[in-house]
Amino acid sequence: MTYHRMRAIRTSGVYHPDREVVEGTVILVEDGRVVDVRDDVPNDATLVHDSDSYALPGLVDAHSHAPIRPGEGDQLGQMRANPVEQTVRAVENLRRDLEAGTTTMRLMGCEHGLDVHLATLERDGSLVSPRLLPTGGHLTPTAGHGMALTATDGPEAIRRRIREHVAAGAHHVKYFATGGVSSAEGSLDEAPYSTAEVEAIVDEAHRHGRHVATHAHGGTGARQAIDAGVDTIEHGAALSTDDLDALEAGESHVVGTFTILHSAEGIEAGDADSPAVMANLEAARERERETWTALLDRDVDVALGTDSMHGHLPGEVDHLLSRGASPERAIRAVTTEAARAARVVDAGHLSPGAHADVLLVADPPVDRPATLAEPRAVVKGGEVVA
Ligand SMILES: [Zn+2]
Repeated sequence: MTYHRMRAIRTSGVYHPDREVVEGTVILVEDGRVVDVRDDVPNDATLVHDSDSYALPGLVDAHSHAPIRPGEGDQLGQMRANPVEQTVRAVENLRRDLEAGTTTMRLMGCEHGLDVHLATLERDGSLVSPRLLPTGGHLTPTAGHGMALTATDGPEAIRRRIREHVAAGAHHVKYFATGGVSSAEGSLDEAPYSTAEVEAIVDEAHRHGRHVATHAHGGTGARQAIDAGVDTIEHGAALSTDDLDALEAGESHVVGTFTILHSAEGIEAGDADSPAVMANLEAARERERETWTALLDRDVDVALGTDSMHGHLPGEVDHLLSRGASPERAIRAVTTEAARAARVVDAGHLSPGAHADVLLVADPPVDRPATLAEPRAVVKGGEVVA
């Protein structure tokens, strides 16, 4: 075997979240992919990083929106803004995410099909960004949460919209099953879509080989989503005991998004002058704490997302720990499990064949998860990018 085309990353140890072990010190890379994790650098390989850092897979953000900044308020208004303005903001946001260690990101909806175009630019190498998994646009009915410019009502219109998104390059389908926090429309328990509409979404998406991500906090909307067989429940701040039973028995992931609710730089910073949003926020904070403490007591697959709190994925890990997750589980929620939730097989781990996306940190991650917030270097596709 010749190694002259290979690159090597030499560390103090490589953490494998799925197996919960530190094993091997040298990551060998060819054509942007991991070839081997071992303990020596072959003579003719090029050393691209050499330090006493610990390595783990580059982080996977299972839920974000490229152009949005919650701290600036009025997220729906931000989604209605013209696409050029939104693109400029997205470019800066995505750079921040990458510099903080996120190398793969699942996007959860926007207007103007923006995320598909951003994903194309990233693939072409024209955008300094995590790898992007776009949805093309989200589905919400008239008067539903998340309705900025586009509403989709009725099973036939839903099916057509999904086909359009798939044709444009959507990696998955996202719909709003309940109200949310960041707009005055709808409570956390409301169900703006009918059961027939939800079933049309899941059927159409799955027939096209796309998974379904669902904004769902609780009540009837969350129940409809779980019963219809959606693949990921996003947020889940107000899930019932019955919902948790069903989730434990099933295979859906629940994706937690905590920073946007709890950080002073989140919704609180942007929407303090909207009494409706602040009331939603208070309710969600309280219910989230109760729900997630109960959820983490169970064998439910969990992943984490920043929900547009760019650069804050390590902060999500802190929140999951504070709700009772072990460090191993919390780290899996931004690596292995986040990749599973996002249906990507070549991210979230450092086995041969995976993208050579690596986060280099000072300490063994399980011993001190806070080390994730202070990356020494970020490697994407075998290149040091931050
Ligand atoms: Zn979101």
